[in-house]
Amino acid sequence: MTIILDGKKTAQKIISKISEEVFKLDVKPKLGVILAGDNPASLIYVNNKLKIAKEIGIEVDFKHFTQNLTNNEIIKKILEWNKDDSVNAILVQLPLPGILYAPSIIEKIDSKKDADGFTPYNIGQLILGYKPYAEPCTPKGIIRLLKEYNIEIEGKIAVVLGRSNIVGKPLSALLRQNNAAVINLHSKTSEKNILAFSKQADILVAAIGQPNYVTSEFVKDDAVVIDVGINRVNNKIIGDVDFKSVVDKASYITPVPGGVGPMTIAMLMENTLELYKNQHKKINPL
Ligand code: NDP
Repeated sequence: MTIILDGKKTAQKIISKISEEVFKLDVKPKLGVILAGDNPASLIYVNNKLKIAKEIGIEVDFKHFTQNLTNNEIIKKILEWNKDDSVNAILVQLPLPGILYAPSIIEKIDSKKDADGFTPYNIGQLILGYKPYAEPCTPKGIIRLLKEYNIEIEGKIAVVLGRSNIVGKPLSALLRQNNAAVINLHSKTSEKNILAFSKQADILVAAIGQPNYVTSEFVKDDAVVIDVGINRVNNKIIGDVDFKSVVDKASYITPVPGGVGPMTIAMLMENTLELYKNQHKKINPL
């Protein structure tokens, strides 16, 4: 029987543990969040993140840039937060509007305050298999969800559809670190090869932003299927996996919504607390 990976319940469990820890702290962790532009989806994501942070006692400082959108304006805020000891974690909501250049902005975040784990240092550590200050939230959330359900990663063939810097690439690195054999595919892979490789996957992850792209013919019997996609179609949220067509073939599958999305937010809260703890660590002079 197929098991639905309940990201919502798992995330709630993680968030409630974080909340208990935050409750005991005299000085609360603080998360600085930057949103640039008026992308409605980004606004919803940011509001969800701010809402949960506030609910569990994490302080937030939210800066929404709507006018005078320049790299310099945003970088000025980041540098200010880098120097401010009361701000423990910084997040710049991606994607940024086209007139801004994300790499020049993200690289300015102090890696010790990098809530999303996207700075070149943190990504470099991740790719090299060393410990970053924080791991990117969506990939980290996927690995955590697999582990919470005791799904073996080691020795498995993992096929990741999508190679973005925020999902596909870091997830491929994390799966590799967990000793999977990873195949990372993208839009320049032929459809024939996407189908052929996907059918080999013990763990199949779709992170391409193409509604219902993965149908049952892509899926090996008893594969674990992870759907990262969030696509708005006719005011409904649709994943990259055609759930109805795949559900009976998979051993485990994430729903959309209620799968990877809530785990992403839980990992952001966890990263914020971990960065805080790292900054408050008593330094042993020896
Ligand atoms: P991007 O648009 O940045 O990247 C999409 C990737 O998919 C690219 O690597 C692209 O290839 C590849 N791709 C596109 N079409 C195909 C195709 N037909 N076959 C194979 N590969 C393809 O998207 P993101 O990675 O940011 O997001 C992916 C999806 O996940 C989106 O729906 C997004 O909304 C969602 N998302 C969900 C999150 C969550 O918390 N649940 C968090 C982040 C994203 P190429 O590199 O060649 O262009």
